[in-house]
Amino acid sequence: MPNTGHQPGEGTYKCTKCGTEVTLNDDKERLPACPGCGYPEFDNSDD
Ligand SMILES: [Zn+2]
Repeated sequence: MPNTGHQPGEGTYKCTKCGTEVTLNDDKERLPACPGCGYPEFDNSDD
């Protein structure tokens, strides 16, 4: 499960707490804390 500060790669990640989606456009980009609630855990919702 990708967390804040990880570099999980390009794609869309969904906050496991509130469902806000965060998109990373670069493999070197780090996941921020959720912009909606500040939670640090995300699901990969690319599927
Ligand atoms: Zn959230």
